[in-house]
Amino acid sequence: MMYLDAIALVRTLPCLAEPGKIIVIGKPNRSLAEVLPYLATLPGILAYNPEAHTLTFRRPMGFMTLYADRVYITQIKSADEGLELLAALQEAINATWEHRAELIAVTVGRRAPRPFDVWTLLPQTNCKLCGEATCLAFAVGLLQHKRSVLECPPLQADGSLTDRRATLEAMF
Ligand code: SF4
Repeated sequence: MMYLDAIALVRTLPCLAEPGKIIVIGKPNRSLAEVLPYLATLPGILAYNPEAHTLTFRRPMGFMTLYADRVYITQIKSADEGLELLAALQEAINATWEHRAELIAVTVGRRAPRPFDVWTLLPQTNCKLCGEATCLAFAVGLLQHKRSVLECPPLQADGSLTDRRATLEAMF
């Protein structure tokens, strides 16, 4: 039996990291909580928090975060591309679920990101409000536990960055 019938595109937002591109938010017709530990066996994982049910994949550009009740994909060219990606994701989820007997579910969190991975989640404006010269420097500070996600004001203030903030908070 298929795990998911559909992931509906429920919202798009402008992508601050890449002007002209959009963020696509999808809603699966069923909670992803049960399938996330199997999806966490796939390559390209940036962060995984089994307790919070969040799993972030690196994409060629941007990233994709799966929550139990929604999916968030950044740096998309158009709503059509978003629909294609959501359909491909639904297929990948169903295929992973079908083959779950051959996989070893991941139940421990993974937080070994690289500075660039963290940078992809930051606003990338180099506004210096955190006191660092660049967002990449701030990313390094986060990895060294010298800085806190709360110290990036734009990340706190901008509602469209809520999901990135949640992902970063799950990582650190
Ligand atoms: S405050 Fe945030 S957006 Fe501004 S430079 Fe620091 S990390 Fe980048």
